[in-house]
Amino acid sequence: MASWDLTQANTLRLPCVAEQYAAPTTLAALQDVLHQARQQRRPMTLLGGGSNVLLPSQLSGVVIRPSLRQWWLERRGREVLAYVGAGVNWHALVMALAARGLWGCENLALIPGDCGAAPVQNIGAYGVELADVLAAVQVVELATGEVRWLDAEACQFGYRDSLFKRELAGKVVITQLVLRLSETPNPQLGYGDLAARVSAAPDPLEVARAVCAIRQQKLPDPAVLANAGSFFKNPLVSGDHAQRLLNDYPGMPHFPQPDGVKLAAGWLIDQCGLKGHRQGAFGVHQHQALVLVHFGGGNRAELLAFADVVADAVAERFGVRLEAEPRVIS
Ligand SMILES: Cc1cc2nc3c(=O)[nH]c(=O)nc-3n(C[C@H](O)[C@H](O)[C@H](O)COP(=O)(O)OP(=O)(O)OC[C@H]3O[C@@H](n4cnc5c(N)ncnc54)[C@H](O)[C@@H]3O)c2cc1C
Repeated sequence: MASWDLTQANTLRLPCVAEQYAAPTTLAALQDVLHQARQQRRPMTLLGGGSNVLLPSQLSGVVIRPSLRQWWLERRGREVLAYVGAGVNWHALVMALAARGLWGCENLALIPGDCGAAPVQNIGAYGVELADVLAAVQVVELATGEVRWLDAEACQFGYRDSLFKRELAGKVVITQLVLRLSETPNPQLGYGDLAARVSAAPDPLEVARAVCAIRQQKLPDPAVLANAGSFFKNPLVSGDHAQRLLNDYPGMPHFPQPDGVKLAAGWLIDQCGLKGHRQGAFGVHQHQALVLVHFGGGNRAELLAFADVVADAVAERFGVRLEAEPRVIS
């Protein structure tokens, strides 16, 4: 039987071979792929741009990359709805919307991947999350091929979290997003040094370009050095725990939340002296401790073992267990 090499289809370039691969470009073609997989009792794995997954060396069944690439706008006064197919590249969409003067997604520029994966972990950056602009999501059930719509509330978005990571994980394909954008200026410049990088009255394209410039300085380009962006989520600890740590580390970055205090995982790793640390094929990036990089020749088991070394060091020093952000695909 033919097999598909997915090593170049994931940004960590973990070696992976899939039994079957399909990239349907229409809803009907997708439903057909699902139907055939059900008939042949083949497991189904959903894949987008592969920028947030930890792939195993072998994947049985069919890997499906939803490749619906149409998108269009619907104007409602000063509000504009964007209907976006799952296969549209997220960054290309952000720049196209910003170039049309539409506010909402500009802070999320240069996040890799497909639009269909964006709701899965409620992508976020520079003080904005997908949840802030998402109106609804169209999904197709793997078990029946039935099409359903979920509004934003039904998606149960949280920090890097949604229903698609929990109850609906492996049960639905996201096929279309509806985003609510605005022509009314609404720059969100409170995060990092974004405000210092733009003019007094920026347009969305200026903000998006500033975000790209900052990200290019801070994050390694996966095309050059394999990585999956932030490898660990920023941990949430209780107020008491944060206070105890602040007594010992007064300069520790901390961000009070309604349900606790969020800490900066990159800072915690850096404090353990692990920035630039390498073990075999994997390492902590030399400038950005939150990013684990793959120098080549390694596999997922080695990466997970290395991630444990990092998480153990942080747990021992700060009493905080770091959780991996990318999805472990089985
Ligand atoms: C350099 C770099 C920087 C990054 N920066 C950020 C950042 O700032 N903020 C942030 O939030 N993330 C960031 N990420 C993570 C990543 O870009 C996002 O999570 C992105 O949404 C993943 O998209 P993808 O298409 O690559 O998804 P994949 O990695 O292919 O898939 C991710 C998950 O979604 C599922 N999935 C994919 N498509 C669908 C679909 N159509 N329907 C249902 N499930 C689906 C997969 O099964 C998998 O579980 C970064 C990654 C890299 C490499």
